[in-house]
Amino acid sequence: LWEHCINQLKAELTSAEFNTWILPLQARVDGPLLRLLAPNRFVLDWTRKHYADRLLELCARHSQGEVSEIHFEVGEFARESGPAKGKGARAGSKASVIDSDLATRRAAANLNADFNFDTFVEGKSNQLARAASIQIARNPGGTYNPLFIYGGVGLGKTHLMHAVGNVILASNPSARVVYLHSERFVAEMIKALQHNRIEDFKKTYRSVNALLIDDVQFFAGKERSQEEFFHTFNALLESGQQIVLSSDRFPKEVTGLEERLRSRFGWGLTVAIDPPDLETSVAILHCKATQLGVELPEDVAFFVGRRIRSNIRELEGALRRLVANAHFTGKPITLEFAKQALRDVLVAQDRQVSLENIQRTVADYYKLRTSDLLSAKRSRSLARPRQLAMALAKELTKHSLPEIGQAFGGRDHTTVLHATRKIKSLRESDATIEEDYRNLLRMLTL
Ligand code: ADP
Ligand code: MG
Repeated sequence: LWEHCINQLKAELTSAEFNTWILPLQARVDGPLLRLLAPNRFVLDWTRKHYADRLLELCARHSQGEVSEIHFEVGEFARESGPAKGKGARAGSKASVIDSDLATRRAAANLNADFNFDTFVEGKSNQLARAASIQIARNPGGTYNPLFIYGGVGLGKTHLMHAVGNVILASNPSARVVYLHSERFVAEMIKALQHNRIEDFKKTYRSVNALLIDDVQFFAGKERSQEEFFHTFNALLESGQQIVLSSDRFPKEVTGLEERLRSRFGWGLTVAIDPPDLETSVAILHCKATQLGVELPEDVAFFVGRRIRSNIRELEGALRRLVANAHFTGKPITLEFAKQALRDVLVAQDRQVSLENIQRTVADYYKLRTSDLLSAKRSRSLARPRQLAMALAKELTKHSLPEIGQAFGGRDHTTVLHATRKIKSLRESDATIEEDYRNLLRMLTL
């Protein structure tokens, strides 16, 4: 309940207001009563005066009317020292205080409690990224700093970052963690500049124990933000605090970033997440199905896993649809049912050969990693498959040359043009290339 209220208030208030007045509060529900403890008289008076009405409204709404009164006191609920789980469970109410405290800290950190390591299915495609994340969650500020996770959309980067943050928060009651999308970082910085609060802004981000910045490719072209982030980055590294970054491509290839930032992103450990192979897709489907409270027959899981190839987010979408459909019609989820229920999704999927699909199919075909295909590496064993993939992208999709270049690790459109010409002439002179091309074409359009 308290977590809902806090999340709502967080959206309504400025972060300075929220951090000063709401964050220090501890909450406990006692029947119809919400007891709020403030650390001192000053905070108590202020919050009672300014936020009591709104809090009551939110509590009533989120408890379906059960909570109807708020009590403010100065003080602190007794806190268990350390993660002594057994004891906390015995003193039931104490445990819930600790939980609500964690919930508050989680909200302040922008962390989603559902994204944790327990719900992250391991597979070959994400093994390294997962292992590195676990290592960092256990030992933040240690050897791997920064951790840089890169990979395509919907493959689990954000999930892993939240998981890291959640572990750090839960294992250290005094740790300050902040997760932020890079666009939010930019927006917050602009707001701080407008309100003459840039010093506060600096202080806020330079005093955290773990800073998790998602999708850093969005820093491209935003020079002032890069400058600010550069200093924050250095300050945190110097004082041994953990930084985790994510992007859709390798650090050196994030275009529109200052060179010094790009090179620094790669100082620690850089790990890729690749699209899942079939077995991992199937395992993820089973895991998500269990979370939704249904059991998925093996043939259905394989069917969906094989047909939805683009990314895990879409895999999840298809599953949700299947479950909802079964729920409405009261029918069991069989293979026939799945084919029927997912018909439009699959037709749409088939009609449009996506760039990701091409990359993945070509990578599979040559037993490479998708991330290598998108990297700057120029070895012959990568360059040829990469050119083939670009040529296929030109032939099979409506994407422009610059778009294709962008999707292939931010390459220039002339590179794509060169690739298509090269493959065209090779297909005439080299029988192996011609055969590969035809095979791939068939696999992609079947
Ligand atoms: P990204 O940030 O790389 O675009 P997300 O982390 O948002 O991707 O993941 C998209 C969805 O897929 C999320 O709902 C996430 O929980 C789920 N997901 C991704 N990888 C896994 C995995 N290995 N196991 C379980 N769920 C996953
Ligand atoms: Mg993401």
